[in-house]
Amino acid sequence: MTEPALEPVPSEPNAEEIAALADYIRAADRIVVLTGAGISTESGIPDYRGPNGVWSTGKPPTIGDFMENEESRRVYWQRRLESYPNLLAAQPNPAHRSLVDLERTGKLSGIVTQNIDGLHQRAGSSPDRVIELHGSAHIVRCTQCGTVFTGEDVQQWLRDGHVYPSCPVCGGILRTATVLFGEPLPREELDRSIELTRNADLLLVVGSSLVVNPAAKLPLIAKRNGAPVAIVNRTETRQDALADLRLEGSAGYVLPTAIGNALGRS
Ligand code: NAD
Repeated sequence: MTEPALEPVPSEPNAEEIAALADYIRAADRIVVLTGAGISTESGIPDYRGPNGVWSTGKPPTIGDFMENEESRRVYWQRRLESYPNLLAAQPNPAHRSLVDLERTGKLSGIVTQNIDGLHQRAGSSPDRVIELHGSAHIVRCTQCGTVFTGEDVQQWLRDGHVYPSCPVCGGILRTATVLFGEPLPREELDRSIELTRNADLLLVVGSSLVVNPAAKLPLIAKRNGAPVAIVNRTETRQDALADLRLEGSAGYVLPTAIGNALGRS
């Protein structure tokens, strides 16, 4: 069942614009959805460049800083101690759930997400259809022996006063399984994202400023391979010029409404 959309606010797209997106969805059989932090703001997780996002509250360290500098690790884990409870408590919103409906139609090739919050999988999207380009905040790994811990384990150690927890197995430096500045993206995930996008017949971008490469390159790849690009975002994005359709509005309203319309439910 398609989730009821969040209440529209005056700045949401009108019925004609929603119907135009529904037409694209109806006409496509191999849809790739690229999601960014904006799809999770209605779940209470601030986006990157918004007023409460990490861009303004303190940028994450580079990989070099993190590995070489104890102070950088202390700051990183202190921020994590404060921010992780919010990430753990966040619930998928109607936008995440509408993508589960889309998957059930067999039209969804995959979701390429820049998010590290795990909300697509928690909403019910098949894990093998979700490509986490920037990793996951819920996994912590030892950089030395590779042992994996849950985010909750590490949260407990932080609460117990370990300012930069080390691996209980080998004493190595622990880090979250997310991509830090200065690090390449995971090769397999990037290759899969490019391959899916090359074969897509619609790229739907939701809640991304399309500033961060290489995710921001996917619209160009889609266009070069003849697929239309639709962008749903509250504000302008860096790749708007490439879009065949742009809907300025909230993911939690636009996606369930347009997908419901495409599936003949409204
Ligand atoms: P971004 O913050 O650069 O852009 C988010 C965009 O979404 C903005 O343009 C904003 O106007 C729009 N937006 C905000 N709320 C929206 C809504 N409800 N509906 C529609 N649009 C909305 O984010 P990005 O492009 O994903 O790139 C930033 C990076 O931030 C990524 O590397 C990601 O790993 C990281 N990040 C992830 C999370 C998360 O996992 N939820 C949160 C913050 C940052």
